[in-house]
Amino acid sequence: MSTTRRNLLIGTGVVAAAAAVPGVQYAGWQMKDFTRAGYDPAPPPPPEGHVAWSNWSGIQTATPANIAVPASEDELAGLLKGAGHVRPVGSGHSFTGLVPCNDVIVDVSRLSGVSAADASAGTATLGAGTRIRAAARDLEAAGLGLPNLPDIDVQTLAGCFATSTHGTGRTLHAMHAQIDGFRLATASGDILDVTADSHPELFSAGKVNLGALGVMTQYKLTCVPSYNLVRRVWVDTLDAMIEQAESLAQQHRNFEFYYFPFTGYAAGISHDIFEGEVTGRAQGEDDETLEGLKDLRDVFGWSPWLRRQIAAGSLPKGVVEESSDAYWKLLSTARPTKFNEMEYHIPVDNGLACLRDVIKAIETRKDTYFPMEVRFTGQDDAWLSPFNSGTRLSIACHAAANEPYDYFFSLIEPIHLAHGGRPHWGKLHSLGYEQLVQMYPRFQDFCDLRKQLDPDGKFLNPYLARLFGEDDHA
Ligand SMILES: Cc1cc2nc3c(=O)[nH]c(=O)nc-3n(C[C@H](O)[C@H](O)[C@H](O)COP(=O)(O)OP(=O)(O)OC[C@H]3O[C@@H](n4cnc5c(N)ncnc54)[C@H](O)[C@@H]3O)c2cc1C
Repeated sequence: MSTTRRNLLIGTGVVAAAAAVPGVQYAGWQMKDFTRAGYDPAPPPPPEGHVAWSNWSGIQTATPANIAVPASEDELAGLLKGAGHVRPVGSGHSFTGLVPCNDVIVDVSRLSGVSAADASAGTATLGAGTRIRAAARDLEAAGLGLPNLPDIDVQTLAGCFATSTHGTGRTLHAMHAQIDGFRLATASGDILDVTADSHPELFSAGKVNLGALGVMTQYKLTCVPSYNLVRRVWVDTLDAMIEQAESLAQQHRNFEFYYFPFTGYAAGISHDIFEGEVTGRAQGEDDETLEGLKDLRDVFGWSPWLRRQIAAGSLPKGVVEESSDAYWKLLSTARPTKFNEMEYHIPVDNGLACLRDVIKAIETRKDTYFPMEVRFTGQDDAWLSPFNSGTRLSIACHAAANEPYDYFFSLIEPIHLAHGGRPHWGKLHSLGYEQLVQMYPRFQDFCDLRKQLDPDGKFLNPYLARLFGEDDHA
């Protein structure tokens, strides 16, 4: 039997307690509108003959002439030969300006599915547009699995590899570390079949590529035998969680924790290999916890002390969930509430000190309430992998999609940089060429290779031009 998942904060209880809090400060706080200036959930209307596109959170928008969905590599190659500017898109779950383009956005979702799987060799070949969940489900049918998954599973393989998407696990790696080979459609419309032996440099550059080298059509991946996990979720004080974080990360296959701002409490989540009969995932909604935290902010945000007391009284302590299932049914969950996010990857030795500084900074802003996420990822060797110089601790800050996030840049990013952090390529950051070339030993090599493959900048947009120091192309 699985333990029933319990809502981590009882929203209605929080609101009811407000009745006991009279006063001018409370009344003033109640009048506040937390919506950010200029927020508009709808993408801009496209000009005649164009179409509208926006990313998941709505902060990146574009009105390209066409969103092309080629049915084959040949069709894609033909399209690339004649096109002006082109940007590949996956499922649009990046927060940075990687995709917007006025000419053609290319979606390879028709190039998807498992085309070969060899359980004895532990390898599989999949279309680049395959969504993670479909990949995991179909690989399981062949007795194979992916070693790790991110928080959600709707991203495409090409999209998540391109930005070094990761899950958590001190001895595990970001998703792209499983790549054995890929097929790439270049600016000239050629299709390259790339492995470490055939094109050693392109292979190391292409695993994490920001969609800047061409359009991926297929991947060959190293897989593991399919497996089940047991998941545990528990609530403890932030101090205890931070103190034990290193040993919990050593002890568990996957360990991460969320800190609930202004509460002093955190939720730990571990996953370990499970070999018995599975219980299935316990029912419950992570979004109810989020609503509870929002209520707490809306009602008690004016008084950090009171907010902490109410949270301490209403949060359950100890284990709140235990369930077991196939790995892909546990590691990723749905995120119905939209948000914007900054995530930096900090060298593990500086990670927890950085986290303490970030929490201190976040808690100078009474309007923050979204949980912060803390994860571990092991080293790999892709040129643009943020994890290529050693194990890193990732710290993610979120803000509701309709609320301000400008403080990520002014308040939080300088702390990450001071601790040696590298940004997640798909999440908000303000860095450009000058900083990135200092941060990544092979960054200039990547830029040179990109230019060699795409001398006319077909795959550049203004955002990428800034990253690669190619402002002439914007
Ligand atoms: C709710 C939510 C949860 C998330 N959770 C995590 C998480 O747990 N861990 C994590 O690391 N990240 C996470 N992310 C970030 C997300 O995984 C990355 O931004 C990822 O790149 C999104 O994949 P996508 O398929 O949506 O690609 P897109 O965002 O559409 O594109 C990403 C990049 O891939 C390129 N690309 C897409 N298709 C191709 C192709 N065929 N060939 C070449 N380039 C291509 C694009 O040009 C772009 O540069 C999360 C994002 C959201 C919104």
